Amino acid sequence: MTYAILLAAGRSNRMKTKEKKQFITINNKPILFYSIDKFLKLKEIEKILIVINKNDKSNKVIKLLLKKYSKYFISNKFFLIFGGKERFDSVSNALNFINQYNNISSTDKVIIHDSARPNFSIQDVNNLLVTLNKYKSVSLSYKLSDSIKRIKKSDNELFEVSESVDRDKYHLVSTPQGFQLKLLIECYDKFYKSTLNYKITDDLQIIEYFSKQKSYLIDSKQSNIKITTKDDLNMIKYIL
Ligand code: C5P
Repeated sequence: MTYAILLAAGRSNRMKTKEKKQFITINNKPILFYSIDKFLKLKEIEKILIVINKNDKSNKVIKLLLKKYSKYFISNKFFLIFGGKERFDSVSNALNFINQYNNISSTDKVIIHDSARPNFSIQDVNNLLVTLNKYKSVSLSYKLSDSIKRIKKSDNELFEVSESVDRDKYHLVSTPQGFQLKLLIECYDKFYKSTLNYKITDDLQIIEYFSKQKSYLIDSKQSNIKITTKDDLNMIKYIL
């Protein structure tokens, strides 16, 4: 069984728009629906868990979601889950839901995706799913074309450079990320039991800190940008 967890429970604090970014409409379609429609084209994905903030359950986009995709909710292909305070809490809620209602086998996979990235390539995700037949933790990523500097300090507008680093040694990591479901559930369990204060921004980190498994990066399309600011939103309007 292959599950997809689609994260849409963020608060969009950095966007400064009235509407949360995942609910903004581009070409008459809410940003969240772009990812849903692509996941529907990936035949291997059998169950899709859409994670929203509890306070958004009466939002017009969520109402539209339940109506437009009603046949998938009725057939138990789609599930609506409430997220948590942080991104990792939202992932954990979805994993707990899967774990509670299903027998997990060692061949089960899970794909985790930020709905703030509507422009991922279906081909790249196909590639990720194939790679997951061999490896247990895989992410889309891309190489850097700009130079990179480590910074020493900043006053928010001006940054003092401490050194240049070799960009060939770095990749930018995006989503979807894919995992052997069993491994990810075990690592999340260890993470919630641990008392250390980790700054977790993606799920490869959970694998790195709580297992001995290696993760792998696929070189994917750079146009899979994450909408964070209004500038990103303007750019994605041109791309979509
Ligand atoms: O805030 P940021 O853009 O880094 O969030 C990445 C993704 O995680 C977004 O799609 C957002 O909706 C989701 N998220 C979530 N639950 C949270 C925080 C973020 O589902 N508590």
